Amino acid sequence: MSIADNIHRINAELAGTAARLCVVTKTHPVEKLEEAYAAGARCFGENRPQEMAAKQPQLPPDVEWHLIGQLQTNKVKLLAPFVHTIQSIDSGKLLREINKHAAANSRVINGLLQFHIAQEETKSGLSLPEAEEMLASEEYRQMQNVRLTGVMGVATFTHDEAQLRREFQQLRSYFEHLKATYFADDDAFRDISMGMSGDYPLAVAEGSTLVRVGSAIFGSR
Ligand SMILES: *Cc1c(COP(=O)(O)O)cnc(C)c1O
Repeated sequence: MSIADNIHRINAELAGTAARLCVVTKTHPVEKLEEAYAAGARCFGENRPQEMAAKQPQLPPDVEWHLIGQLQTNKVKLLAPFVHTIQSIDSGKLLREINKHAAANSRVINGLLQFHIAQEETKSGLSLPEAEEMLASEEYRQMQNVRLTGVMGVATFTHDEAQLRREFQQLRSYFEHLKATYFADDDAFRDISMGMSGDYPLAVAEGSTLVRVGSAIFGSR
């Protein structure tokens, strides 16, 4: 199967669901990204700021670049001129830095709050109380250049479907709570980014609006 075949197949699977596809392009050369673009993909996810910044000028300007990996505050500056969405906001410090650099570029940058939903200790993300503390703060309310558009999570690497479903349900319940409490009047807060190559059909069944798929499109890295 070619890259285009895979993208068309996944888009056909997602048709009629709430979910859209973000193609995870990390580690792949620009030629592969061009193939994905030609097949209609416009959302590209990368996990390394330098790699994303190097690829971005080589692709058409209507690509939505999504940062999906842990982001150090000192790398925000590199992405601020062009990044569409930072999916991996896991601290107030990072949120503050994104707002600052977006303002310096006269832009609004979208962000997802990343939650810790996996059993593995290593997967990063906020707890619900940490997120609520940020959202309730006066500092957050003053931020003009960052727009929170939803939540993101990475499930445990497992084939245990019941566990995956529980983790996706947990992320969805966080989303619903935050939506009702802080974003009831904000239509932009709408995304639940969950689901990867191994588990996206389950994530979609549990309400994902954005799946992040790499190896099912490009082959294994
Ligand atoms: C690499 C990565 C993906 C895509 O993983 P695949 O299994 O290749 O689909 C999705 N989300 C995050 C956060 C990633 O780092």
